[in-house]
Amino acid sequence: MVSRVIPVDPFDLVIFGGTGDLARRKILPGLYRRFLAGQVPDSSRIIGAARGEMDDDGFRAFVAEAIGEFVSEGKRDGETLARFLGHVHYVSVDAKGDGGWKDLARLMRKDVVQAFYFSVAPSLFGDLAERLHRFRIATETARIVVEKPFGRDLDSARALNATLAEHFTEHQIYRIDHYLGKETVQNLMAVRFANILFEPLWNARHVDHVQITVAETVGVGGRGAYYDKSGAMRDMVQNHLMQLLCLIAMEAPYRFDPDAVRDEKLKVIRALKEIGPEDIVRGQYRGGPRAGGEPSYVEDAEDPASKTESYIALKVQIANWRWKGTPFYLRTGKKLRARASEIAVVFKEVPHSIFDDEEGWRENVLSIRLQPNEGMTLSVMIKEPGPGGMRLTEVPLDMSFAEALGEDGTDIPDAYERLIMDVIRGNQTLFMRGDEVEAAWAWTDPIIAAWEARGDKPKGYDPGSSGPEDALMLLHRDGRRWREIRE
Ligand code: NAD
Repeated sequence: MVSRVIPVDPFDLVIFGGTGDLARRKILPGLYRRFLAGQVPDSSRIIGAARGEMDDDGFRAFVAEAIGEFVSEGKRDGETLARFLGHVHYVSVDAKGDGGWKDLARLMRKDVVQAFYFSVAPSLFGDLAERLHRFRIATETARIVVEKPFGRDLDSARALNATLAEHFTEHQIYRIDHYLGKETVQNLMAVRFANILFEPLWNARHVDHVQITVAETVGVGGRGAYYDKSGAMRDMVQNHLMQLLCLIAMEAPYRFDPDAVRDEKLKVIRALKEIGPEDIVRGQYRGGPRAGGEPSYVEDAEDPASKTESYIALKVQIANWRWKGTPFYLRTGKKLRARASEIAVVFKEVPHSIFDDEEGWRENVLSIRLQPNEGMTLSVMIKEPGPGGMRLTEVPLDMSFAEALGEDGTDIPDAYERLIMDVIRGNQTLFMRGDEVEAAWAWTDPIIAAWEARGDKPKGYDPGSSGPEDALMLLHRDGRRWREIRE
């Protein structure tokens, strides 16, 4: 299947923080791949803007190096790369000072799509927004893209929303959550709302529970002191896992329109029940000999008394008609057994089994894999082939996007490149709205405040494991099991 490439209008895309890590690893290589796909129209420009002194050629060398490192070899011949670099420019600006802004103002065109990607620390968002306004750079239709973290609690998120709102309308603000840019995540909406098969079963009557897992193998080494100020709840649950939960749990929007979709997600967040200490397990990875001599979390965090979690598991309930009594189990952590992200919708038993083979029977599971190998699998029960009576076995109905959509999977656009193209097109469906982010913090804040007030210490877990033992109990006591974390 060849994917259709929809043309976009010419644009000027400014990447504040264009020389940073995110730009190097994701944004610039992603733009190159979109260029290859024909989505960077001739007169479009990609303008790096950062504090360092550099000229166009210096930045082009930086971009070429990033592409060399993060784009597969077969896709970067010298001639194509040179054509792409012809779109690339650089301006040195200081977000906190006035230097460079007039140069940027001179460079920008008013008659093309303008997008400003804030790939800098959130503490600079307000400064950038204010200067884009004061130097009359941004047009009324200009878009700004802001990176995570969007605040660290409700108050700071509100303050950030208010600051941006001084200079931009909500329709101009694109709060990025790259999980929403994943092919599978969008496919989840297509599967739910473009098929008659699933929706009738998509409720507490037929769904036993849902598991959402985002497991990483890396620790926080290198940025431990920074991570220690947030932890897994703030860094992953409040945004990524919550967004995934919303897409699974939301009602059908009246149409596939940005505000219609985001209204439905917001309703889910508002319907989340408060959760108590018995429904939360927090963990920190251990170090020492069993960790192959690797440092423990508290060593990485450079604080022996740190109570910040590198792992969290939660049992979440949604107080509405559709989901009453169906738990959503969420977990995410560092230094776990495998790098794997999955949403599993586990269906209930058949009402009455006519087969004797109770051992062979398994519940139907719709597994949505976000990484690695994006795809969906629906497990169904069939008869085990051959003689020997009616024995049951489970087979996967597999839909691997990599195979279905591209020769080797490399044609699937990365989440960032897809989202950047949505910005250029002016489509906010896959971006978080300000009220959504605030609602998510409003649910998260009291949970964090409660464990801080109790002085809870996270449980230790071994690197390479599935997390703390207590997390197993979270499901065991409900007569359920976590799915295995595997690539
Ligand atoms: P980084 O530290 O690697 O890069 C920061 C960039 O900002 C540099 O280009 C630097 O020149 C520029 N900068 C710093 N101060 C400036 C100033 N006063 N004026 C103008 N430019 C200035 O950071 P990063 O890792 O690229 O992250 C950027 C943003 O993206 C942060 O908000 C981060 O939380 C977020 N983010 C990063 C990643 C990632 O994988 N790196 C992932 C998700 C979100």
